Amino acid sequence: MAKGTFHRRSTIALSAKKKGSESRSFGFKKSIYAIAAAALIVAVGVGLWQRELFNKPVKAEMPGKESRCSGQNVVVRSPVNADALIACEGARDAIEFLASKDLDVPNDVAIEIVMKLPPVECSFAAGCYLESERRVFILVYSEFKKFKTWFGVPIDRTLYRSLVSHEVAHVVAGFNFKILTPSIQAKEYIAYITQFSIMEPVQRERVLSQFPCEAFEGDWQMGATIYMFDCMSFGVRAYRHFLKLANGRDYLHAILNGEALVE
Ligand SMILES: [Zn+2]
Repeated sequence: MAKGTFHRRSTIALSAKKKGSESRSFGFKKSIYAIAAAALIVAVGVGLWQRELFNKPVKAEMPGKESRCSGQNVVVRSPVNADALIACEGARDAIEFLASKDLDVPNDVAIEIVMKLPPVECSFAAGCYLESERRVFILVYSEFKKFKTWFGVPIDRTLYRSLVSHEVAHVVAGFNFKILTPSIQAKEYIAYITQFSIMEPVQRERVLSQFPCEAFEGDWQMGATIYMFDCMSFGVRAYRHFLKLANGRDYLHAILNGEALVE
């Protein structure tokens, strides 16, 4: 669909090829199905700990050059041009999707593509959004690809793009929340439904087919514990829930207003 262009901050302009079938991603399937309640408690604990650290400034490895995505309020810092181009596409997809649901678009989005994510804050993930600094960190594609699969399918650049979309959706959602402390499930619901919505249909079906789980039936099923237990299944079930809604736009705004998916 969309074509994107990407400009070096100076004068060099790069054109992005038509986006293929890409999508986003997030944490790796931690095979914790077999882990019992004790492990679940640990997982939740880690989540809270990470959230606490989100409030502290982070010194991340500074990657290469800074570039501005053409036509967007998005700046990407990346050591790899090709990755920056994909980041621009993923950011554009997320912003366009959420703007189509009447979310406001932030006037600045910063994406840093790095060889290594900031420690602790981003453990077990291929990308993360640091709320306190409003910065997105994404692994360089070559590192992401080392995971081999994501959402149960082989990693390619389309999945990489969807990873960026997920994280940028966090930025946009953060800009639109009307409540001070939205729940984890509220933030992740918006990020995941954005990620899946912007995927090319063929790839989306490929990913969804890996998860035979049913749609969430309602808010009461979408707790933080469910998310922490298996974030990918949470994402798929959230997306299926979103598809069933009579008015997805209104539901998103209910989340942003603190009327749905509250703690
Ligand atoms: Zn997320």
